[in-house]
Amino acid sequence: MPEYRQNPLTGQVVIVSAERGSRPHHFDIETGEVAIGTSITNCPFCEGNEHLTPGEIDSIRNSGTFADGTGWRVRVIPNKYPAACDYNGFSTYRDFRESLEFNEKLSPFDFVVKSIPAFGEHEVLVDTPRHIISVTDMTLQETIDMFRMYRIRLVSLQSSRKWAYVQIFKNVGLAAGASIPHSHSQLIAIPFVPLTVLNILEHAAKYRISKGNCFWCDLLTNEIQFESRVVEETESFLVICPFASRFASEVEIYPKFHESLLESFADEIKLNEFSDLVRRTVYRLEKAVYWIKNKLAYNFVFHIEPFEHEFGKNIFHWRLSILPSLARAAGFEWGTGLHINPIPPETAAKKLREIK
Ligand SMILES: [Zn+2]
Ligand SMILES: [Zn+2]
Repeated sequence: MPEYRQNPLTGQVVIVSAERGSRPHHFDIETGEVAIGTSITNCPFCEGNEHLTPGEIDSIRNSGTFADGTGWRVRVIPNKYPAACDYNGFSTYRDFRESLEFNEKLSPFDFVVKSIPAFGEHEVLVDTPRHIISVTDMTLQETIDMFRMYRIRLVSLQSSRKWAYVQIFKNVGLAAGASIPHSHSQLIAIPFVPLTVLNILEHAAKYRISKGNCFWCDLLTNEIQFESRVVEETESFLVICPFASRFASEVEIYPKFHESLLESFADEIKLNEFSDLVRRTVYRLEKAVYWIKNKLAYNFVFHIEPFEHEFGKNIFHWRLSILPSLARAAGFEWGTGLHINPIPPETAAKKLREIK
């Protein structure tokens, strides 16, 4: 079963999951193309192949259809090859922390001998019954359904009181880490807040105390005034290439008005606006020079407020990062954590703005 192991010096946690190693690959590792022998007949995410997956957790369905049958529009299933599992013995994030004395109470010696079960939940959200790859292959309605389900799962996981943090993400294409081409999203819920997120939260909380405002609300006001990194502004959202972009053409989409947990997705008008904007933004990325061999691999990474933390509620301002997979992290990046970005974000934003 998957395990958490913590680096005793840095405090960073890794997940060791032999299960992940046995997942099937529907991509050819050499070429990045869809592997020979894989098709919609053996795609576990295609409509009609529901028997190839574990039973569904949730779905958006056409009326008159039933769980684990056809007729769904979005289908949520447990990941068959999980990075984390819902172990018996823990029922809340508090149980987990207390029973394992997770974190600083362990000595380095304990860390290397103590196995810490990777208590968590790893879900696959199959975005559409159609065998398509990118958000730009989806209809507007499919995109709306996909994001609607993100919010539904988030609210459900928050109300379970089991988890401290949920990471929602989407890998499109082999270079972005996908193993199956059929459009899908994933989420992993864990019972602690990862260090990287904790650091951001701590700084944002300090900013809130010293300035009286949300850091990101102030940032967005500045970006709108400054203009050069803005890709598009709509009624409720702003698309920018962030000032310290780690990757060429890294893009962020923010709600313009303060929200922490995808609240806009519960509002039909805003959900529609966001879905349309995301499709347009990925279209811009795919149309820019960054199109490689007729396809762009990319990740969606949703940054949302942890459910459980000590800095007060509503500190975090959620955002979606879209990260095109144009270069791999190499020696310098692994050694230092410093990324070298060959395209200034101002140049990237200009180019993306010009694509209609
Ligand atoms: Zn499929
Ligand atoms: Zn804000």
